Amino acid sequence: MAKTIYIVVPCYDEEEMLPISAPQLLDKLMSLIHSSQITDQSRIMFVNDGSGDQTWSLIQQLHSQDSHYSGVNLSRNRGHQNALLAGLMTAAEYCDAAISIDADLQDDINAIDDMVTKFNDGYDIVYGVRSDRTSDTFFKRFTAQSFYRVMNMLGAKTIFNHADFRLMSRRVLAGLAEFPEVNLFLRGIIPMIGFKSTTTEYARKERIAGESKYPLRKMIGFALEGITSLSTVPLRLITYLGGFIFSISVVFAIYTLVQHALNHTISGWSSLMISLWAIGGLVMFSLGVVGEYIGKIYLETKKRPRYLIESVLNDTEQKKL
Ligand code: UDP
Ligand code: MG
Repeated sequence: MAKTIYIVVPCYDEEEMLPISAPQLLDKLMSLIHSSQITDQSRIMFVNDGSGDQTWSLIQQLHSQDSHYSGVNLSRNRGHQNALLAGLMTAAEYCDAAISIDADLQDDINAIDDMVTKFNDGYDIVYGVRSDRTSDTFFKRFTAQSFYRVMNMLGAKTIFNHADFRLMSRRVLAGLAEFPEVNLFLRGIIPMIGFKSTTTEYARKERIAGESKYPLRKMIGFALEGITSLSTVPLRLITYLGGFIFSISVVFAIYTLVQHALNHTISGWSSLMISLWAIGGLVMFSLGVVGEYIGKIYLETKKRPRYLIESVLNDTEQKKL
């Protein structure tokens, strides 16, 4: 049986891009509807993230032209991740699966066919993965890829070269709703949800109209957000660094004492040097230990679900409570 798919598109100041991307998205949706792969109740859902331009009135116009376009209007600008979440949670009330994609269509909409096929084959998450980033500037490519590497090194498992272009089934969306954290980094949370997942590859294109809403300043902020909201490894690094400096101080102490014994030093130097390193190392080590506890508190305050059940095998009837 065909499923209802929602394509969720966060939009911030996209008045230049919308008139180009909306018809392309509709064509894609209609072709999937006509080939009976998805139902006619499927929609393209634009989320207006407090745009300062004509974005919302464009969305309203689109909706009045064709009911396959729908819209969500946020009260103010809340940023890409929050806008996306708002759209996904709204879509979850109507759909069997939602696909998120940026308004600039840098991600190839033709990958949607493959996502829908894989969803029909029983996958719950289909990650869009960029096989080719040649359209990105060297700088963007370099910064983005170093970011994925650092994230993985710090223990936050993200899918390499995957941004926010993915299909998620209804139960994945329900799982996502169980993550009440405020510092949202969807790329890190979705893999934590689990369920059967796969990827589909595509070549990333250039933005054809409007400007990137992610200048370097925002990109760095986003990277820091990702690292600090998924990993407490930086806190542990302080502990290691403290231990390291303290062990240097031990070596240094021996060296200083030898110099002292050989009378190569002026008075006061030895004691100063030893205490400087030893105390520095100890202070940093203690900070790290305190940090370890803060890290635990931090993770607890996120109130993440401890598990999500995929299926239960049991033949006996459930007792009504
Ligand atoms: N976006 C948003 N709110 C913001 C910033 C961006 O909803 O505060 C949307 C934007 O309209 C686009 C998507 O997030 O659909 C990704 O932004 P962009 O394409 O500018 O980022 P880049 O591809 O350069 O990383
Ligand atoms: Mg873009």
